[in-house]
Amino acid sequence: MLPELEALLQVQRYDARLMDAQRKRDEIPGRREALRAALDQAKGSHEHAKKELERVRLERRGQEKEIEVIQNEGSKLERQLLNLKTNKEYQAMLHEIELLKSKRSDRETLVLECFEREESLVAQVKQAELRIAEEERRLKAGEAELEKEAATLDQTIHSLRVDRDQVRPNIPGPVLARYDRLAGSRNGIAVAEVRKGACGACFTALTPQAMQEVRRNDAVLQCESCGRIVIWTEASAT
Ligand SMILES: [Zn+2]
Repeated sequence: MLPELEALLQVQRYDARLMDAQRKRDEIPGRREALRAALDQAKGSHEHAKKELERVRLERRGQEKEIEVIQNEGSKLERQLLNLKTNKEYQAMLHEIELLKSKRSDRETLVLECFEREESLVAQVKQAELRIAEEERRLKAGEAELEKEAATLDQTIHSLRVDRDQVRPNIPGPVLARYDRLAGSRNGIAVAEVRKGACGACFTALTPQAMQEVRRNDAVLQCESCGRIVIWTEASAT
């Protein structure tokens, strides 16, 4: 194989690994952000349940006060009942007392409903607290893990660059410029190995004549379809 083809192949393999490592490295801030967002969400649910509990408690206390007022009113009417002169007045007041009783009973139902709701909200608050603790633990462990991962990837990226940059000078300037141009416009893949008689990147079949030329590996050839540099390797024969 022409030495510059060998070098092109090596540079492409380093660049492909570099892209992969760089992509993983770029994902780390987002993964950290997702852990923080999960904790924020747990805190939000906790806050929401607490506020709702407070609201229901206030509502219940309001109803309880109302019941007290209705009770006092009822007792007052019952005392007045004894001093009434006519049967008509007496019946009217009895009716009023009945109305108060029914009002009181309605409010007592509401109070019971509030109690039930409070009970379920207390459980929700407790559950949200547990979730916060769990998300805090996950964030802490996750951040340590991500920091380690980032350091390893930075190291990998650095050494891949060093290795690649040692090989790049083995490629003649114009060919290297072509490689860089292709890589820039073809998602980082400028060199394709031949696979099953086709360009390994765009999968377009090579003409018999192109196959013959590429098998010789004595010139820099480009895929007629995608323009990438095509190289025959050991794997091309399989
Ligand atoms: Zn191609």
